[in-house]
Amino acid sequence: MDTQFLKKIDASISSNAKNLIELRRFLHRNPELSQQEFATTDFLSKRLLDLGFDVNIRPEKTGFYADLTPKNFDPKTDKTIALRCDLDALPIDEKADVTYISENPGVMHACGHDAHMTIITGIAEALAETELPGRLRLIYQHAEETSPGGASELIAFGALKGVDSILGVHVEPKIKAGKVGVKPGAFTAAFDVFEITIHGKAGHGARPHHCVDPIYILTQAANALYNAVGRRADAGDPMTFSIGKIEGGSAYNIIPNTAFMGGTIRTLSIENREKIKPLLNQILKGICDAHGASYELTILSGSPAIINDIHLNRSIRQAAVETIGEENVIDMQLPSMGSEDFSEYLKFVPGAMFRLGVAEDDNAHMLHSAFFKIEETSLTIGSRILTRTVLNLFKEEA
Ligand SMILES: [Zn+2]
Ligand SMILES: [Zn+2]
Repeated sequence: MDTQFLKKIDASISSNAKNLIELRRFLHRNPELSQQEFATTDFLSKRLLDLGFDVNIRPEKTGFYADLTPKNFDPKTDKTIALRCDLDALPIDEKADVTYISENPGVMHACGHDAHMTIITGIAEALAETELPGRLRLIYQHAEETSPGGASELIAFGALKGVDSILGVHVEPKIKAGKVGVKPGAFTAAFDVFEITIHGKAGHGARPHHCVDPIYILTQAANALYNAVGRRADAGDPMTFSIGKIEGGSAYNIIPNTAFMGGTIRTLSIENREKIKPLLNQILKGICDAHGASYELTILSGSPAIINDIHLNRSIRQAAVETIGEENVIDMQLPSMGSEDFSEYLKFVPGAMFRLGVAEDDNAHMLHSAFFKIEETSLTIGSRILTRTVLNLFKEEA
């Protein structure tokens, strides 16, 4: 891949900025919820087809992947590099001060997936007419926001077949537009949901000694669990425990039979993740035994942590330095305790993700906020960095 070619592609993305902003605004005005991205899938898959990509749409009509395969492609020796973006929006009523506000009431692209789709499509437009030294696969993934997410469904559909490595990007409102954040190793956390039901014995609120009060026992268990995370997990290896829902009882003067709580636990290491179930069981059993109650515990496993491949992260960093300069590349020290189902792909192939700065200023609203918006100059930066990473990877692997 000669420098002249790299420069030409880079310039063609930059000169496509207006078109990309228009595409992103169209996607922003027309958001769809997870597993309902029918129009988005239809619209973008047609666009990719027009560009000459081979398009594979899931039978459910949400989510697809598209290949650009060079004429003399030999799957035995030539590489396939995948780029992934996500299609879904969130159940949020948009309040952002923009002229292209969501036209689907109660649904909003508040996680920047409209930007991710635009960035990947920008790459498709820049590379469509070229003869690459390997195959480029673009994965347009549905249902990133829900658990289980769309990644595992697309993998089952064959989206990783023949893929050697995968790259992704997520917008980041904590970083100013024009800059990016990169990090090797742990990038986001694993995500598990817990559901706990305490079984007691119902009765009159005036006579708790005749009952086994599940609400009282639940509060003891909740406090013990909050404390246990700080006492039992290594402080250098973060774990967050959050109860998001508590339910129990039907009247002020009745002690109920059962009480329920549910929430999430996020971890970075496999060791910590494996501790969750025994830890919860030990504490729940101890407290329930002490009060003559019983419990049920269900753990619903979400996506694992994203562990960025060191070599691929270095390739993204290098491409970012070449595109926007060393001074605009932030080496992030800490992972996010949020989670992303990009990690599902990493169970099968090495990959890396980076954070694209989209903040207009220091007061940018965060992801999943009804006021979230992005500085759109970041779109071409995202496309340029990912394109250069892919071209550099093809070059070194050729
Ligand atoms: Zn999100
Ligand atoms: Zn997201």
